[in-house]
Amino acid sequence: MTMEVVSGEGSDIGALEALESNVRSYSRIFPAVFSQARGSIMSTDGGRQIIDFFSGAGALNYGHNNHEIRGAIVEYLASDAVVHGLDMATPAKLEFLKTFSSIVLGQRDLQYRMQFTGPTGANAIEAALKLSRKVTGRKNVISFTRGYHGMSLGAIAASANHFYRSGSGVSLSGATFMPYDGYLGPEVDSADYLRTVLLDKSSGIDCPAAILVETVQGEGGINVASKEWLRSIQAVAKDTGALFIVDDIQMGCGRTGEFFSFEFAALSPDIVVMSKSLSGYGLPLSMVLIKEGLDAWRPGEHNGTFRGNNLALVSATAAINIYWRNETFSLRVQRMGQLMRSRLEAIACEHGRGCSVRGRGMALGFDCQSAEKAEATARNAFDKGLMIERCGPDDQVVKFMPALTIDHEVLEQGLEIFEESLAETVR
Ligand SMILES: *Cc1c(COP(=O)(O)O)cnc(C)c1O
Repeated sequence: MTMEVVSGEGSDIGALEALESNVRSYSRIFPAVFSQARGSIMSTDGGRQIIDFFSGAGALNYGHNNHEIRGAIVEYLASDAVVHGLDMATPAKLEFLKTFSSIVLGQRDLQYRMQFTGPTGANAIEAALKLSRKVTGRKNVISFTRGYHGMSLGAIAASANHFYRSGSGVSLSGATFMPYDGYLGPEVDSADYLRTVLLDKSSGIDCPAAILVETVQGEGGINVASKEWLRSIQAVAKDTGALFIVDDIQMGCGRTGEFFSFEFAALSPDIVVMSKSLSGYGLPLSMVLIKEGLDAWRPGEHNGTFRGNNLALVSATAAINIYWRNETFSLRVQRMGQLMRSRLEAIACEHGRGCSVRGRGMALGFDCQSAEKAEATARNAFDKGLMIERCGPDDQVVKFMPALTIDHEVLEQGLEIFEESLAETVR
């Protein structure tokens, strides 16, 4: 995407131009200096209040500086408890393991071992791919058109975006891309195609160690896979001896209305990859869930200095205790998602001219069918006090990912700003 440098209001954003690498990106799209944030509102040091429909790309499902979660962090810090300890045993880790196991896994009748990886989602993807290759003795991985899995070489190899792939500077190998659900139009079942080529010894596609999938593609444009398609892909994995990996980094932790984005399809992935909102507070924390029997790691074989950071484990435990002990939160997310969707559909009808809405839960995409329209709308919105990102192959989709905890009123305000911004763009 082309990103112009616009000088932000308030303070000297020019220091960025002078001192920070050209690689910086969000400071260009959202040209302001942000000094405070609470819930779904970010404040600039120029005194503007901006509604956040971006949520740190999905890392802030419970909002900025969620005070209920913050209490646990502040208390932990004040007590001189261990913050960094590699993957040594600490009460914070034991508490997280027990809480995640009893509340998140136990209530869903799921059984997984938890592996804490380095703090990025990409590192957790690397671990998942390495483990699949180790377990199966195979090298290839099936991933999907428009898929996104992170910026390290193994993860980029399984990601479709040309801009990122070409930035890697080496030849990327080890992944074969297959059409995602709907990629070839509604008539073609791409799961059938995958089954055919994987069962054919002369299809030219090497037997995969794993099939790696997002149930809703976040960066790829809020592309939604159906329950049936996902179930077929899982069956193909099973029938071909590949591990079935769900990348739930962006769509997990309640984003689609349930804790895991695959619950609606009653999937049972061999491996689940989590990060982004897992810590509940925007702190870095990543985890790979491994089905019993597949935990073939030797001690220390996937290492890292910042695995399972204790502060992030403390906030993660608090988030689970606060939001996931019963169904109340999940039902609220589903309700708010419905509300957003019908409002966006009405906006598409009114001003859209060819625009369409898709998504699941509180991850929705407004496809403008035009990069220029989406860009101008998002820029207008920021000027009017709404932060929204774009996604999709040409950044033609405006992405709606407000905090799952957002107030009804603030949600309405944000949607109103979006409507005005779009109306101005198409006028
Ligand atoms: C963000 C994301 C990643 C990569 O996570 P990082 O923390 O940025 O490395 C991987 N997969 C999906 C689906 C993501 O949204």
